[in-house]
Amino acid sequence: MQKERDSGGPLEALRVSEDFDGIVCDLDGVVYRGDGVIPGAPQAIARLRERGVHIVFCTNNSRLTLGQYVDKLARMGVSSVPEDVVTSGVVTSEVLARRGYKGATAMVVGDQGIRENLGDIGVRIHDGGGEQPGIDIVVVGWDVDFNYAKMRRAAAAVRGGAALIATNGDATFPAADELWPGAGAILASIEVASGRRAEIMGKPNTPMMEAAARRLEDAGSIAVVGDRPDSDLAGGEAMGWATILVLSGVVDAAEAAALDPQPDLIVESLADLG
Ligand SMILES: [Mg+2]
Repeated sequence: MQKERDSGGPLEALRVSEDFDGIVCDLDGVVYRGDGVIPGAPQAIARLRERGVHIVFCTNNSRLTLGQYVDKLARMGVSSVPEDVVTSGVVTSEVLARRGYKGATAMVVGDQGIRENLGDIGVRIHDGGGEQPGIDIVVVGWDVDFNYAKMRRAAAAVRGGAALIATNGDATFPAADELWPGAGAILASIEVASGRRAEIMGKPNTPMMEAAARRLEDAGSIAVVGDRPDSDLAGGEAMGWATILVLSGVVDAAEAAALDPQPDLIVESLADLG
């Protein structure tokens, strides 16, 4: 692929769809912000699919279940099936299942999605209160109800020998109105309080990137599309994929110009692709 260093436009977009038959597409800041769709994104996805590009949606957000993501995408005008979506919660449960954590007891800092993902592989969830069983693993994701008591219980479990696993390490994510603290901000407090570092499953780390790659085994060449250089683009770069930065999320044009390494392509939004 010819490296494209300028801001995107129709010519570059044409080149993208000719060069790639697989796209790993981030969601927050790329397809939507909060509950608001990025203008033109659903149409671009449809155009790319019409040209035979296989798109896998890949999000570090572990809040929703796969079914809820399919429903959310449908509300945005994007059709999908659960196999089209990879979340850090799904990747976390896939990895834990492979490591034999079926039947283990987990304390979860996180929302419905990660709880359901862990339940699917037979992990028992205990969040404190009543008799405290032995906690084998503490799983940390984004949790809108995170508080001091959860931090205290999680840190105590880790100090007591539980493994510390995080769905993702994102410092922030783009909500509809502003940047909100992400799972990484929650995780940092538990790491400080426990004195231990977590193993992180989400982008840019290998478990998530390899999970996305497994779902694109039919693709000859892959590009990653994301709004976050330190997770989406770094993860794609590590896999040897082309990197496409959109400016509809956490990074503006001035920040994009200063990035090192530079993305292969920078576009205003997904609407400029396909
Ligand atoms: Mg994003």
